[in-house]
Amino acid sequence: MIEATREEQQRLFELQQVDLGIRQLQHRRRDLPEQRTLDERNQTLSLVTAEYASSRERLDALSGEQRGLERELAAVDARRRSEEGRMYSGRITSERELTALRGELGTLRTRKSTLEDRLLEVMGETEELESAVGALRERHAELSGEIERLAAARDEAATDIDAELDRMGAERAAAAADVRPDVLAYYDGLRARKDGVAVARLEGRTCQGCRLQLTAIELEEVRDRATRGLARCEQCGRILVPAS
Ligand SMILES: [Zn+2]
Repeated sequence: MIEATREEQQRLFELQQVDLGIRQLQHRRRDLPEQRTLDERNQTLSLVTAEYASSRERLDALSGEQRGLERELAAVDARRRSEEGRMYSGRITSERELTALRGELGTLRTRKSTLEDRLLEVMGETEELESAVGALRERHAELSGEIERLAAARDEAATDIDAELDRMGAERAAAAADVRPDVLAYYDGLRARKDGVAVARLEGRTCQGCRLQLTAIELEEVRDRATRGLARCEQCGRILVPAS
C-alpha cells in the first residue's frame, strides 16, 4: 500500500476533479460544434463551386452552338435568296432545271426551320441556365460569408477554451505541488489505465468510480487503510477516498 496522508488523499481527489475538467475541455477543443458546422458548409461550398463551374462551361458550349446556328442560318438565307433570284430571273427555261431548283428551295426551307427550332431550344436553355448560374453565384457569396463568420466563431471558442485550459493547468500544478512525487506518479499511472478516473469518492458503501457496493468487511478495510495510505476499490482498483 502506498502511504499517503488524509491531506494528500484530499489533494488527489481535488486533482482528479481538475483533471476531469481538463479532459472535458480537451475533448471539446478537438470537437468544436463550430468546426463541425464549418466542415459542413465547406462541403456545400465545394459542391456549389463545382456546379457553378460546370454550368458556366455548359453556357459557353451553348453560346458556341448558338453562334454556329446563326452563321448557318445566315448562309441558308443567302443561298435561298440567290436561288430564288435565279428562279424568278426568267433565265431558266428548262422544266427539269426548274424542278431541281424548286427541290433545292424546299430543302433549304426545311433546313432553315430545323435550325430555327434548335436555335429556340438553345436560347431557352441558355436563359434557364443563366438564371441558375445567378442563383449559384449568390449562394456562393452567402456561403463564403457564413464560412468566414463561422471560422471567426470557431477561433474565438478555441481561444476561450485555451485560456480556460491554461487556468486549469495552473490549478492542477497548485494541487499537485502538495502531493509527493511517488503518490502523484501512482495516481497518473492509474488514471491512464482507468479511463481518466483514478480517484473515486466512497459514499456510504458505494464506490463512485464503479458504482458497486462494498461489503461490510471491505468497507471496514478501506476505512482503516485510508487512515494510513491509499485504499483501493476491490472491484475497479481505483483509489477510494472516504467522504469526510
Ligand atoms: Zn470501484
